[in-house]
Amino acid sequence: MGEFDLIARHFTRPVRRAVLGVGDDCALLAPTPGHQLAVSTDTLNEGRHFLSTVAPEALGHKCLAVNLSDLAACGATPRAFTLALSMPRVDDVFLDGFARGLLALAERHDCELVGGDTTAGPLAITVTVIGEVPVGQALLRSGARPGDDLWVSGTLGDARLALEVFRAQVPAAELGAADAFDRVRRAMEWPEPRVALGQALRGVASAAIDVSDGLLGDLGHVLARSGVGACVEADRLPCSAVLAAQPDERRRELGLAGGDDYELLFTAPPARAEAVRSAALSAAVPVTRIGRIEGLPGRRVVDREGRALDRPWPGFDHFAPESDR
Ligand code: ADP
Ligand code: MG
Repeated sequence: MGEFDLIARHFTRPVRRAVLGVGDDCALLAPTPGHQLAVSTDTLNEGRHFLSTVAPEALGHKCLAVNLSDLAACGATPRAFTLALSMPRVDDVFLDGFARGLLALAERHDCELVGGDTTAGPLAITVTVIGEVPVGQALLRSGARPGDDLWVSGTLGDARLALEVFRAQVPAAELGAADAFDRVRRAMEWPEPRVALGQALRGVASAAIDVSDGLLGDLGHVLARSGVGACVEADRLPCSAVLAAQPDERRRELGLAGGDDYELLFTAPPARAEAVRSAALSAAVPVTRIGRIEGLPGRRVVDREGRALDRPWPGFDHFAPESDR
C-alpha cells in the first residue's frame, strides 16, 4: 500500500465543520466570529515518550490526548488537528489500531483530522491541534496573584509509577492489589485531557497550565510567568488508592515530580473557590486545593505538619544530563 492509499484508508473522513479537509494542499477552517485560534503541537518519539510495546490504539489516543490537554490548559474548545506520522514501514494492523484510538478521542471532542504528512522513518508522531477561545478569555500562565489558591484536577503520580514498574525500578509486587498495575498503567497509556474543565474555568481561574513534566516543574512555569512564589502542601496532593498505599517518600516524589499526568494546575482567588467547585462539578472532574500563591518569589514544599521538605525534585527536561532524571 502506498502513501496515498494509506492516507485514504486510515486518515480520511468526511469533513464536518471544516470547509476543506484531507486531500488538498491546505485544509480550510472558518473561525467562529469573536474567537481567537489556540494552536499547539506535541511530538511523541518511540523510546522517549512511549514504549515500543504500547498497544497501537493507546498510542493513537495518547498522541491526541496530550495535545488536547494543552488546549484544555488555555480554556480552548478543540476544532481540528493535523497528524504528521513517520514510521519505518506500512503496518496495517498498527495503523488500524492507531487510527481507531486516535479518531475515537477526536470524535468525543468533536475535533476533526483535517490534514497531515506521512513519511518513512523512525516511528514518531506529531499532532498539531487547533482550538478556539472567545477573544481575551484564554487562560494563561501569567495571571497568578499573591493570595490565590493553588488547585489541581484529578490525581497525580500514577503514570510515573507505571513507568517505574516498566523500567523495573519499582517491583510490581510493591503496588499491593492484583489489579493495581493495570490501574496505574491505564493512567500512563490512556490519559483523559481535561477539556471540559478548562473551558469551565474561563473567567474563574487566574492562571492555568497542564501537568506534563511534573507538578513542581510546571508550577515553576506559572510562577516565572506570573512573577510570584508559592507554597505547596505535599500531603494534600490528590492521589489514587494505589499511590496512597505507597510509602510517604515515594508517594510525594511521584506526585510532585512524576510527570505525564495531564491534569490541570490552576490558580484562583479564594473568593472564587465556590465557582471553582461548580466548574469542577459541571466538568465531572474532582479538584483539590494544594497550596497558595505567595508574593515572595520561589516555591516552598511543606509536609502535613507544615515542615519544609527541601529536596530538589527536578521537573522533566529532555536535555538535562542523564544523571538528573
Ligand atoms: P503535500 O504534497 O501538499 O505535502 P501530501 O501528499 O503530503 O501533500 O498529503 C496529501 C494530503 O493528505 C494532504 O491534504 C495532507 O494534509 C493529507 N495527509 C497526509 N498525511 C496525513 C495523515 N497522516 N493524516 C491526515 N492527513 C494526511
Ligand atoms: Mg506532505
